[in-house]
Amino acid sequence: MDAHAVAVSEPSAETMTVFPVPAFQDNYLWVVDNGKDAVVVDPGDAMPVLAYLRSRGLTLRAILITHKHADHIGGVATLLEHFDVPVHGPAHEAIACVDHPHSGGETVRIEAPAMTLTVIDVPGHTAGHIAYFLSADATGTPHLFCGDTLFSCGCGRLFEGTPAQMLASLDALAALPPATLVHCAHEYTLSNIRFALTVDPDNAALAAWHDEATARRAAGRPTLPTTLAQERLTNPFLRSDAPAIVAFAERHAERTQLSREAVFAAVRGAKDTFR
Ligand code: ZN
Ligand code: FE
Repeated sequence: MDAHAVAVSEPSAETMTVFPVPAFQDNYLWVVDNGKDAVVVDPGDAMPVLAYLRSRGLTLRAILITHKHADHIGGVATLLEHFDVPVHGPAHEAIACVDHPHSGGETVRIEAPAMTLTVIDVPGHTAGHIAYFLSADATGTPHLFCGDTLFSCGCGRLFEGTPAQMLASLDALAALPPATLVHCAHEYTLSNIRFALTVDPDNAALAAWHDEATARRAAGRPTLPTTLAQERLTNPFLRSDAPAIVAFAERHAERTQLSREAVFAAVRGAKDTFR
């Protein structure tokens, strides 16, 4: 199977709660549960996850890892002292404790909470980065857990991949259904929007998202999950074909006739030095 093709899995039969457990400065450790059993994505720190599980009387049933960075795996060993559970993670990254390695295209079947996720290969931030896609929960809503690949109005830094690889990874994610709830691993939304507005200043959807996200943060709420529909309208890294983004890239690169990859690379490069 093509690594970027995403199989449609049967809908989850159970009502699920998906909650962003905050950790460190701006990480979210996403916990999915059915009121009894839980799965955690990228537990960089065990303590807030254990506290959340305890507060809701949940039993951990599985751990999902997107990539090798410490803020995504730091809590795994401690969680395994409390719960003897499978650990799914990237096949191409050396991560202790991963006993279910994936490189993209696999299906991850979890019994409780009952769900079937598809693994998507998304190199760029790191070489082996993977994402997990649930095509429908009990209400028909799709969910994506994408680690540090896609953020609201941003994308991960290219530590190990090329712009072309990251662009292909983002294209694969952008091709998922528009209603997909995007569970990113960091609350970077406001600073990403600040940069995005310099790239795409006349984007009305971006201005509206700026106001909405600002209000959510002022109220102490997460800006996430976002949706793919929203990101396609506002995220400069998903809009390398949009005239405003191309124009920005041409000014930044001081060249015209840029390829789509060159547009993406120029915007990513501008973000790397943006303060
Ligand atoms: Zn990372
Ligand atoms: Fe991270």
